[in-house]
Order: sequence, then C-alpha cells, then structure tokens
Amino acid sequence: MKIILLGAPGSGKGTLAKQITRDFGLPQISTGDLFRAIVKEDSALAREVKSIMASGALVPDELTIEIVKNRINQNDCQKGFILDGFPRTVNQAKALENITEIDMAILVDLDFETIIDRLSSRLTCPACGEIYNAHTYNQQSCQKCNATLIQRDDDKPETIKNRLEVYEKNTSPLINFYSDRLFKVSSKNSAEETYRSVKTFLDNFGG
Ligand code: ADP
Ligand code: ZN
Repeated sequence: MKIILLGAPGSGKGTLAKQITRDFGLPQISTGDLFRAIVKEDSALAREVKSIMASGALVPDELTIEIVKNRINQNDCQKGFILDGFPRTVNQAKALENITEIDMAILVDLDFETIIDRLSSRLTCPACGEIYNAHTYNQQSCQKCNATLIQRDDDKPETIKNRLEVYEKNTSPLINFYSDRLFKVSSKNSAEETYRSVKTFLDNFGG
C-alpha cells in the first residue's frame, strides 16, 4: 500500500504514521525528519534548510522532490510506504505522480484552535523523535532514550501561525487533488480513537 497523509502541521500525521508502521510494516517517510537530519550536518545546504524551517516556510520543491525520490527508490519501499509531510504543494503532488502511483490519501482533520494548543505544548525528543505533550507529561527527559526534551524552534507561537498559513495556501488544495482516493478522519479525540477508524479502513482496503 502506498499511502500519503494529509493534514495541517500538528494535526497528528506523525503519530498516525507510527501506528500504521507498527501494524502494517510500512516504512514512514517523513520529509520533516529527513530535513531535520540534513540540518544537523555542517554544510551550506544545512544552514539554508535550517533558516527556512525556522521561519515556517517550505523548502524548495526541487530539493524536496529529489530527496523523496531517492528515499522511495530504496529497497524497503518496494511493497509500499507512508508519506508523512509530502506532498505539500500541488507541484510536489504532480511530481510524485511521475515517480509512483499512490493508492490513497488519508486526511487527518483538526480545527486550527486545537492545533495551536497542541503545537505550543508539544515537546520533542531531539534524539529519537518521540513526541510528548507538556500538559500530560511533566518530565524533562524522553521515556524511550532519556535525552532531554526540547521545544522545536518551529513550535514557537509566531512560527506556528506562519506554518498554518502556508498549509492553508499551499497544501490544502491537495484535498481536492486526491478527492478520488481520500479517506478523512478527525483527530479531535485520542490518538487511539483516530487510529481505530483508520485501521478499520486499511484492513478492508483492497479486500
Ligand atoms: P509539521 O508537519 O509539524 O509542520 P514537519 O516535521 O512535517 O512539521 O516539517 C517541518 C518543516 O520542514 C516544514 O515547516 C518545512 O519547512 C519543511 N518541510 C517538510 N516537508 C516539506 C515538504 N514536503 N516540502 C517543503 N518543505 C517541507
Ligand atoms: Zn528519545
């Protein structure tokens, strides 16, 4: 199965991707994670990507498409994958059509007010990528690997607003682009509840 996850930043795409990976054995391809890995390098490219991400803007399509193409062509993606955070523009979606055929788009739906609340209280493990919510997790270190948790630069209030605007303008048109293979799920309730309805859908997909 080749799946893409659509939804605003902070809607819960990453969490959903990890649940699908766990049960269906499909690799999660997160362009945000790929870029965060690039940023750790010491290069001109790393510095450029870092400043783009910190502003909440999008990395240029050409570079993004190249990185995704290389990742999809690796062996573990033969049977399928979950794309998390890509495509984010209609241009990227069109480029993806030329790389491979996508079976379905899952839209993770959440109102902006809840998103802003969740993102501004989000804590991220810089080592393993695990995500926590400061309202419910009152420790400073990661339960999995013990690294000290941080607030991502782009989870600061000014950047959140910009990311949501970028989503509205550039990414939300993809809902129409994929309307012939779209499954919509609300993430207003718990992550478990969100996943339950997605799992039922995936279990029945293709018989
Ligand atoms: P979120 O979905 O929570 O905003 P991500 O981790 O998916 O966070 O992405 C973080 C940042 O990485 C984005 O704000 C953007 O700068 C960059 N990025 C990720 N995916 C893409 C993409 N498909 N195209 C362009 N830029 C991207
Ligand atoms: Zn960790």
